[in-house]
Amino acid sequence: MNIACDILVIGAGVSGISAALASARSGIRTVVVEKEGFIGGAGYSGLLQQICGLYLNGRAVPEETLNDGIVREVVSGLHRLSPRNKVKKIGQVYVLPYLREDLSSVFNSMCRAENRLSVMLNTSLVSVKKKKGKVVEVALSDMNAKSPRPHFTKGGIRGTTFNITPKVLIDCSGDGAAAVMAGADYKLSPLSKRQLAGFIIHLKGLNTGDETLPVKVPYYLSEAAEVKRFPSYARYTTFSYGDVPDEGYLKINPGHEYSRRGPVVLNRAAKILGYLAEKLPSFRHAHIAGTSLKVMDREGRRICGEYTLTEDDILNAGKFDDGVVKNSWPIELWDRNKGTVYKYLRDGEYYEIPFRCLKVKGLSNLLCAGRCISVTREALGSTRVMGTCMSLGEQAGLAAAYYVKNGRYPYSYT
Ligand SMILES: Cc1cc2nc3c(=O)[nH]c(=O)nc-3n(C[C@H](O)[C@H](O)[C@H](O)COP(=O)(O)OP(=O)(O)OC[C@H]3O[C@@H](n4cnc5c(N)ncnc54)[C@H](O)[C@@H]3O)c2cc1C
Repeated sequence: MNIACDILVIGAGVSGISAALASARSGIRTVVVEKEGFIGGAGYSGLLQQICGLYLNGRAVPEETLNDGIVREVVSGLHRLSPRNKVKKIGQVYVLPYLREDLSSVFNSMCRAENRLSVMLNTSLVSVKKKKGKVVEVALSDMNAKSPRPHFTKGGIRGTTFNITPKVLIDCSGDGAAAVMAGADYKLSPLSKRQLAGFIIHLKGLNTGDETLPVKVPYYLSEAAEVKRFPSYARYTTFSYGDVPDEGYLKINPGHEYSRRGPVVLNRAAKILGYLAEKLPSFRHAHIAGTSLKVMDREGRRICGEYTLTEDDILNAGKFDDGVVKNSWPIELWDRNKGTVYKYLRDGEYYEIPFRCLKVKGLSNLLCAGRCISVTREALGSTRVMGTCMSLGEQAGLAAAYYVKNGRYPYSYT
């Protein structure tokens, strides 16, 4: 198989789709590959309920998103499909409730409208070759292909392999998979410091008449963790009501070491539900209607770029000459000893993320966007939310397209 493209995007999560749309709309042949059979990444498979990082936090209800461009189109597409879902204030922040089917449908129709864009599902990254500080070739495995000679790798990837030689590679894999294969430096917190992962359970059959469940659930689970009926992470479980009266969501937040142990967490989730049914009549007839696809990492590899955004940059509302994305979302750390810790910007303020956080150090035609950009552990607590990831993806796509046309990025010092 020989696929020609100028820009290759790895991962079709919210950042990857936004990157691919932006570069295709700039007139550049773009391919986005995704190892799963759907687009949207954690925004689709995670059973999340709201998009964070879209709005300026402050007293006034925001009328528009903080960043313009693709996020604004996505928000108006979501409004068209579910007009009931309006901007909502939770504590000190504004979020947009959404349905994952709507997000998928909006992204799908935006992608279908671009004839320079190919979306390849069930296609996984195998390796990246570099030469003299440049990515020169990317090997991919098409798991749809019925090959007489399937390809196996240590990671269990199966399918036929083929190569692409992009002019720019954009890593939107969430974990910097492509950048690491290209030899980029990265930071990864030790397990003891890494943010808790998350697993979401969709419940039906609840009696949601009791409005205090979001307080009672962590209270009872803290008691149970105290007497060692459940591991200590159970005390950080949160509950939120669903869109429909008898529905709700439990967010269980185990340590990162459970990332590859979905069945263990699912088993424990069933026990947690049984315990809640003992304590709270609202849960007596509740059952598990669905779960997130896997235990999801909040924190993974952070690829070293030409600048590393810090907590100080965020809390002091830092601005940069190459600031490409605005964000007002607080630093939200899911700490294994303290639970959720929030650090807010001042009301009505935002910071900027410089383009240099997207530009991978030492590799001229490799960009990162989404969860794996160049930030400190603390800064990641703010930059990783979906609204911000979409804008990061869009900016990576625009800069990559500029590079293809002009042989350099649109910022003189990069
Ligand atoms: C428990 C939890 C709750 C959260 N809640 C919220 C929330 O309520 N609101 C919010 O806005 N954000 C929330 N987030 C954060 C947010 O969901 C993610 O950080 C964001 O979706 C990241 O987007 P992304 O595009 O960078 O990565 P992802 O969504 O992870 O997408 C990366 C994509 O790349 C693909 N991929 C990876 N490796 C390869 C490969 N080798 N080959 C091909 N494809 C590959 C993956 O399959 C995936 O589809 C939450 C995160 C967690 C963990």
